[in-house]
Amino acid sequence: MIDTQATFKLSYGLFILTAREGEKDSGCIINTVQQVTDAPLRLSVTVNKQNYTHDMILHTGEFNVSVLDETTSFELIQHFGFQSGRDVNKFANFPQFRMENGVVFVAQSCNAAFSCKVVQAVDCGTHTLFIAEVTESMVLDKTPSVTYAYYFEHIKPKPETDKKGWYCKICGYVYEGDPLPEDYICPLCKHGAADFEKIG
Ligand code: FE
Repeated sequence: MIDTQATFKLSYGLFILTAREGEKDSGCIINTVQQVTDAPLRLSVTVNKQNYTHDMILHTGEFNVSVLDETTSFELIQHFGFQSGRDVNKFANFPQFRMENGVVFVAQSCNAAFSCKVVQAVDCGTHTLFIAEVTESMVLDKTPSVTYAYYFEHIKPKPETDKKGWYCKICGYVYEGDPLPEDYICPLCKHGAADFEKIG
């Protein structure tokens, strides 16, 4: 059998992946950044093909990673995670700090940042795995990096238990009704019915 809950036992960080194509900046939240090799210094990021940032990276071969720390607010996660760069310009009213490659990074609640150049893109079906060489990196703050587990424990709002229905375990959205439709998609974070839990 496959218990999908087992994947929640894997430890991850949280990152904002940013890219620039033409005059447009965008970014999204990911939890999949890994160091691949030391010399040359290479990272891998895995990103869902539905993300606008994914296509920008595919076209330009360049991206930045902002490593989020424990001061990260739910609003920051919502801003970059629960709306699409296709519909809104996420940097329209947002501080635009750029690294040497001209791509933005998010300085808010960020303890380190990387600029990367793609050396290989691996098609993984729903996602693309990018292996990339680090061209610039910097440490900005001593605050510990936020982990995915810390996000669930301390950042994501607790479900409003006075409401009846189902709540999204990823973002906290409450579906007020029962039963939850099998093909239901969370309007906030776009995760499916399997990530919902009944309140109470
Ligand atoms: Fe959600």
